[in-house]
This record gives sequence, C-alpha cells and structure tokens, in this order.
Amino acid sequence: MIKGNGIQKHIPEEKIYVNGSVNRNLSEEVLNELNILFENSHPDEILDWGFQTFGKKLVVGTGFGPSGILLIHRLVAKNIPVTIFFLDTNLLFDETYKLRAVLEERFGIKIVPVNTDLSLEQQSQNYGDELWRRNPDKCCEIRKVIPLQQYLADKKAWVTGIRRSQGFTRHETNIIEWDPLNQVVKINPLALWSNDRVWDYIDEHDLPYNPLHDYGYPTIGCIPCTEPVSSGEGERSGRWKNSNKTECGIHLPAQNFNNGRK
Ligand code: SF4
Repeated sequence: MIKGNGIQKHIPEEKIYVNGSVNRNLSEEVLNELNILFENSHPDEILDWGFQTFGKKLVVGTGFGPSGILLIHRLVAKNIPVTIFFLDTNLLFDETYKLRAVLEERFGIKIVPVNTDLSLEQQSQNYGDELWRRNPDKCCEIRKVIPLQQYLADKKAWVTGIRRSQGFTRHETNIIEWDPLNQVVKINPLALWSNDRVWDYIDEHDLPYNPLHDYGYPTIGCIPCTEPVSSGEGERSGRWKNSNKTECGIHLPAQNFNNGRK
C-alpha cells in the first residue's frame, strides 16, 4: 500500500520500490493509477504522499514563479520538512535573488542554490563570450541540466511547479511522472492548475512574488534569455525569444527519452 496521509492507496509498494530503491521502471500502469488517484487532489495531499513515500530523499525545486511560491507556502503550512532548492545560474535577475531572501525571511526557510562549478568567466574562456547567444542549449546544459542531474543523483523524487497550461511543451504534464533524465520520480502537484487559479491563490494569501510579473514578464528565467511579452502572447513566449528554443532541458517531455525509459 502506498503511504500517504492516511488515504488508502491500493498500489503495492513493491511496484514503487525494488530492494529499497525507487523502481527505475515504474510502469505506465502504476503511473496511471497514481495520476487517477491524485487527479482531484489538493496539492497538500500530493505533497504529503511524496514526503511519506520518499522522506528526505524528496526535494522541491523552484524557479520562484507563482506556482513555486504557492508550493512553498503549502509546504510551510503543512510543516513538511523537505529541502527546497533553485538552479542558480548566476544570471538571474536581482529581483529574483531579492525574492528568494524575502521568502526565506517570511517563512523561516533556506532555499538552497544548486549551481555549476564553472564560473561565468571560465565559461567565457572555454566557450567564448555570451554562450547563451550562440548555443543556448549548451549554456543551459552547463548551468542547469548537469547541476540538476548531479544534485538529484542521490535523491528519489523531486517536486516542480510546472503546469499543463504553460504551453505546448507542457501540455502532457502529469501529476506523477518518471523523470528519465534524472532517474527519479517527478511530482507536479499543480499540473492541472490554470495560471489564473495560481494567481488567485497568491492574491488570496497575500504572498510575495517577483515584481517583474507586473511589468510584462509572465515567466522569469535568466536575464539574457527572458523578455517581456505582449498582451495575448503565450505564458512562456518571452523565454529565448526569437529562437526555436522553448525549454532549458530540465522539463523535456518523457517521449524525448525513448518513451520515458533509458
Ligand atoms: S536560460 Fe539562457 S543564460 Fe540561462 S542557462 Fe539557459 S541559455 Fe544560459
């Protein structure tokens, strides 16, 4: 039986664990069962299940967007003692770093930076100046994808704030997924939430948010790759504007990885 907040989840634990480790081949059947179970669940229930199932091997990633702030608020409200981290590329907006400090102060938490050992100066020496202009995939790989892989190497599951409504690359996001790139379970408690519903929550609870959202930035990443959008443009259309790139590589759909299996 899956552990979880006193709820009877009739999925045998051995389907999730093999010899004490998360089953690397979580079947589509188990994932489907979990997603049906949690389809109408409050994020609290999903976070509870994640912590009771994976304990301290569960971590929560945030990019400091409204979804991440909502999840941090729920973790604090439920007193779920998991590590919260962010990918610090050293290229984030001042407003983002200030928001991190505000959240830490308000909620009495630490939000751990995860980063590459390669400084921006070393990156310029090795790959040339402004790699993000010439080869953003390589830049993201160095500053986001590999650091995340290394960080998750000894974890069993991570929580993200991604939602289906964020754009076509995320339309098939499920609440519980297998993350083939990092070989861990990926939990997206807000997968089925709309942007409006998230913002209503932020307003209702008077939560802090990045002030750049009030200046035309629906989503905010690194400075060189984030621009404001015009009315009617998609939520993520300000990211890597004027290029075909739509994702940094940490949230690629599972089908990009041989149907989700290595
Ligand atoms: S978002 Fe841009 S600056 Fe940030 S790591 Fe990716 S390519 Fe580099």
